[in-house]
Amino acid sequence: MDPKETWRMLLDAWFHRNWDDVLELSEALLNWLHKDGFAPQIEYPRELGPDLNRLLAKTACEFLRKRATVVKESPNGIPQDVGFSLTCSECNNEGPESYDAAIAEGWTRIEYVPRLSSENFLGSCPICIAADQ
Ligand SMILES: [Zn+2]
Repeated sequence: MDPKETWRMLLDAWFHRNWDDVLELSEALLNWLHKDGFAPQIEYPRELGPDLNRLLAKTACEFLRKRATVVKESPNGIPQDVGFSLTCSECNNEGPESYDAAIAEGWTRIEYVPRLSSENFLGSCPICIAADQ
């Protein structure tokens, strides 16, 4: 295994919300680290050293594996342990504070998007849906 390449692919999978790959790659890297394989170098302007690289990679892999599992097991891919904050992907309209309320209001295509800075979910609001028809 090339842990650096696996790490890069894992972060790409997270960015693109490819949960099957997040799960597979995080498990592969965790197995590698458990067998005392060297840790990928975590990108940072300064050298962090093997101990911190190992800790950061292991902690991140455990988090990513858990989150991917929750998303894959959740109805509609909506993880229940993530705070629900929704915005419209087209007009930035803010959604209600729960998934059920959003569905009741007519929001569609609600997706968990963990890389966003302020919201955890994107969807299409009823106004944009009406405008598209
Ligand atoms: Zn909208």
